[in-house]
Amino acid sequence: MALLIPLLVASVTMIIVGRLSYRHHQLLRTVEYLAHRDDLTGLLNRRAFREAADARLAARAPQFVTLLLIDVDHFKRVNDGYGHDAGDTALRHVAAVLERMAPEGASVARWGGEEFAMLCDWDDRLRLADGVCAAVANSPCDYDGQMIAMTVSIGVATGTGATIAPLLRRADAALYDAKGDGRNRWTMAA
Ligand code: GH3
Ligand code: MG
Ligand code: MG
Repeated sequence: MALLIPLLVASVTMIIVGRLSYRHHQLLRTVEYLAHRDDLTGLLNRRAFREAADARLAARAPQFVTLLLIDVDHFKRVNDGYGHDAGDTALRHVAAVLERMAPEGASVARWGGEEFAMLCDWDDRLRLADGVCAAVANSPCDYDGQMIAMTVSIGVATGTGATIAPLLRRADAALYDAKGDGRNRWTMAA
């Protein structure tokens, strides 16, 4: 009996410590997920995308990478016409289309609002930009039986460098041009 009690205490302690450490591990994973993901779409958030992009540039240098900045056209009309909840559903839908279209190994993020970002190897760029425009335009979002049609405009920038910042600036300027040229199209950055 004198031996049994310490053994019992040790076993119970080990079980409790094991459970606590498992729970701790689960909590860490949840925190990690929340810190890197966008709430609405589950895509990478802006910060995580920047980190992934910088790491990719560093790993691939001096090879080029391609950045697509993708903005939903006239998205305000979706909210105004169908309501904010439908707008949220439409954004999740666009996110799913982008994930489906993304080449293997690409990073896809919600850059903010109704704007998304995709980073991939540079040789994918033309087929990809065409494909993304067509995929969004050809797959309306089903919101309780109402089919919400959307298009996107895309700024495409290709290059290399120490960080993603210059590519972001060029892709943003190209996106602005795509909007000005009539939307539902992509423009290559200078
Ligand atoms: P453009 O073609 O020039 O991009 O026009 P736009 O209407 O898409 O652009 P604008 O910047 O005028 O409007 C963006 C809208 O996106 C306004 C904002 O309320 C909406 N939006 C941003 N984030 C969310 C969101 O998380 N959910 C919903 N439902 N709407 C959002
Ligand atoms: Mg927009
Ligand atoms: Mg926008």
